[in-house]
Amino acid sequence: MKKTAVVSCLLLFVAASALAQTQVDPKYQIHDRNRPLPPVIDAGTSSTQETPGRPPSDATVLFDGKDLSKWQHKDGNTAKWKVENGYFEVVPKAGQLYTRDSFGDCQLHVEFAEPSPAKGQDQDRGNSGVFLHGVYEVQVLDSYQSKTYADGQASAVYGQFPPQVNASRPPGQWQIYDIIFHGPRFDSAGKLLRPARITAFHNGVLVQDNVELTGPTGHQQRPPYAATPEKLPLSLQDHNHPVRYRNIWIRELN
Ligand code: MG
Repeated sequence: MKKTAVVSCLLLFVAASALAQTQVDPKYQIHDRNRPLPPVIDAGTSSTQETPGRPPSDATVLFDGKDLSKWQHKDGNTAKWKVENGYFEVVPKAGQLYTRDSFGDCQLHVEFAEPSPAKGQDQDRGNSGVFLHGVYEVQVLDSYQSKTYADGQASAVYGQFPPQVNASRPPGQWQIYDIIFHGPRFDSAGKLLRPARITAFHNGVLVQDNVELTGPTGHQQRPPYAATPEKLPLSLQDHNHPVRYRNIWIRELN
């Protein structure tokens, strides 16, 4: 094949991939009044430092300030992290938490607060993490006036993508991650059809713009994809630091 033909094919492929995500539904005329309207929901309210907001009415609430009944440890044991005053807190060495239910592509809302006063530095400062599918970590860390490597600071896709900006608030203040996650897809033989993608906002600011993951995240390693189900539990990391969480909800995407 000539070089120009290869380029044309490549462009077509890129265009087709883009279309696959944004294509207008050919079943309906423009402004078609017979087209079904989207469901009406209550959008909820925003959080303040004092009070967590109300989740959208169609969200699945994973923590409402009262108990950890939606969570467990890897061995299935009851969650041993501490619940008080509307939040829960990592109990060092108690182990990572996993949701009892599994989730696929989703919009995830998580609020966290770093230990105050701050203790330690670099990766040893308010370290936890939000693990989509249990293996793709959006880093939780105290990165307020505290340095570490770029792809390991707060709101990094750990070991792969630094955030576009450092939007961290001081320790003790509530911070918010809003994450859009599209899991990987595999064919029946286990071959990767599309990688996992993450878009993330930290305190309302875009920090990850539809990045394509190389595979699960890891410390000093980028392991390849292995075929996984479309739905898996979410996880929160116990990194031996008493990070707090509140107001966690998820909306699965169709
Ligand atoms: Mg971490």
